[in-house]
Parts: sequence; structure tokens; C-alpha cells
Amino acid sequence: MLIDSFGRVHDYLRISLLDRCNFRCTYCMPHDLPKGSFAYAKRMSAEEIDFISSVFVNLGIKKIRLTGGEPLIRKDVDAILLSLSKYPIELALTTNGSLLHKHIDILKQAGIKSVNVSLDSLDPEKFYAITKRNEFHKVLANIHLLLHEGFKVKLNAVVLANENENEILNFVQLTRDWPLHVRFIEFMPFDGNSWNQNQVVSHKKIVDLIQHHYEVNKIEDAVHDTAKKYKVPGYEGSFAVISTISEPFCGDCNRLRLTSDGKLKNCLFSKEEVDLLSPLRKGEDIIPLIESCVIAKKAERGGQFNFENKILQPQTIKNRSMIAIGG
Ligand code: SAM
Ligand code: SF4
Repeated sequence: MLIDSFGRVHDYLRISLLDRCNFRCTYCMPHDLPKGSFAYAKRMSAEEIDFISSVFVNLGIKKIRLTGGEPLIRKDVDAILLSLSKYPIELALTTNGSLLHKHIDILKQAGIKSVNVSLDSLDPEKFYAITKRNEFHKVLANIHLLLHEGFKVKLNAVVLANENENEILNFVQLTRDWPLHVRFIEFMPFDGNSWNQNQVVSHKKIVDLIQHHYEVNKIEDAVHDTAKKYKVPGYEGSFAVISTISEPFCGDCNRLRLTSDGKLKNCLFSKEEVDLLSPLRKGEDIIPLIESCVIAKKAERGGQFNFENKILQPQTIKNRSMIAIGG
């Protein structure tokens, strides 16, 4: 088992398949976009992903989520999904939804039951302003398709002040007839995304707004949930807030992250990374490296969040851009 120095058991691994994307979300994509992505030679191959996953499964990992960048633009994504489906784990996917229709049968074959789709706006023009892509109707159609095919769907919406903040109630209204779980995400600082605390809409503000218009029941959160869950009574779906900035949930964190170039991060905000891919290619044992990475995990948010008079100083955070970590 992978247990850190605070006694937290780590049984959930998020693997980024690549650091590229077909969208250009303003809050995610670094403004000075590096040219190209990691050279193919630096990126984990499908076989390496499979092998490293097998090592993690033997160390007690029970859930693997594939993410990116956009995981579905990787050409061998179907082969990767199928190869990981042989492990006794819950296999999951986070995607921007634009290419889901091409992979729906493979998702079923791979035993995926639940898909997280990012959708930050229910207004096609606003969607374009955020993603810089005209894919709103495609993404919406693919969400329909997932629900029709019996998948559990979580919608991820990053809430940005003065941008899509005014759509919070529309997302809640969507849960009246659609059996999906909307997750409002507080905007987080990463390399190159010009984060500003004034753009964060807090958990409290989101829930206060919703409670002003709806009767809202709190749903019990599962042990490792990052989201605080709620429901409007009688509605098909539910909603939640991921409050990384205003109320972090690190106390029972069970997550590890593997970047597409094979670096292990023990936290979304960890400065330190442990290279697993180079030692693996030299034929070395990566288990001690994984264990030491887990032991070194800091208590909260990579030990990197420094506040001055309650204002977070993002320039003191050393990290990659979100697209290169794998959200
Ligand atoms: N491309 C896929 C997608 O959009 O779902 C997977 C990768 S994306 C990095 C994973 C999640 O991270 C998305 O839900 C996205 O909205 C979220 N995300 C990206 N940048 C973020 C930020 N600065 N703050 C909060 N969430 C962010
Ligand atoms: Fe791409 Fe997802 Fe980042 Fe948007 S949030 S740019 S879809 S990786």
C-alpha cells in the first residue's frame, strides 16, 4: 500500500496521456504556449503506460483516471483504454467531450461506467469565448449520447467571476431533467494562466447564490470526495463545488498524478516531481521511487500556498501549466 507520512492511503492514480489539446480554454492553456508538445520519445508509450499501471495496481491503486491535455486526441487512446481494462480497477476518463462519439464503443468495452466532461458554459458564444473552439453543440450532443448509453456523467464547470458566473443557476436548472452531476470548480493558479484571486468564485458564494433561488439539500460526501455535494429535491441530477482555493480538502487525499512524460506528482500543486520513465527505460526498479514520492507528500496543496492578508501569492507557486500536469 502507498501510505504517506500523514497516514493517507493512496489508491487513485490520474494518468495524463498527453500535454496537447484541441481546445484553448483561457483558464487552462498557458498564454505563452510552448511550441509542440513533449517529443514523442519523451512521452510514455502505450506499453510503458500499461507497465507502470501494473506496478501501481500491485501497490494498491484501485482507480485510474485518464486525462490530459485532451486524452481522446491521442491516436492510440483506444489501445490504452483496452489494455488498462484488464486490471481490477475502476477505469475513468476526463475529457472535453468533443471526440466522445468516436470512442463510445471502446469506452463500453473497457468497462468505463463514468465519464467527466468539461463544459463551462451553456451558451454557445460564451463557450467559444472560453474554449476558442466552435464545438458547443458537438459536446452537448456527446453528453446526451453518454447519458443515452447509460454512462454516469459528471460535468466540470470552472467558474470565473464576470465570465460564466451568471450561468450557475442555469447549470443547476439543467439537473432538473438531466440525470447528471454538475461540479462547479474554483479557478486555480497554474503556470501561465494569469490567475487572479478576484476571478475566483468561492464555494460559499456559489452555494449562497443557489440557496437564494432553490431549496437545496446537502448530500453526504464520500470519504475521498474533493467535491461538496448538493441536490435540489425532486431534481434528476445533483451538483457540487470543488473548493480547492477557499476550503481545501487535502485531509484525506488519496490521489497521485503521472504526467505524460512519466513524472510522478504527489499533489496537483507539488513542485517536486519524481521521474519514473527514465529509470524504467534503464531497466531500474521504480517501486522505491514511487514509495519515496508518496512519503514526501506535503500536508496541504503541495506546501505551496502562501497567503498574505488572505491574498494568495501565485508567483511563489512553482508548478507546470495545467495542460502539462493533467487535471
Ligand atoms: N481536456 C480534458 C478536459 O477539459 O476535461 C482533461 C484535462 S483538463 C486539464 C481537466 C479539468 O481541469 C477540466 O475539467 C478543466 O476544466 C480543469 N481545469 C483546467 N484548468 C483549471 C484551472 N486553472 N482551475 C480549475 N480547473 C481547471
Ligand atoms: Fe484542453 Fe481541457 Fe485544458 Fe480546455 S481544460 S484547454 S479542454 S486540457
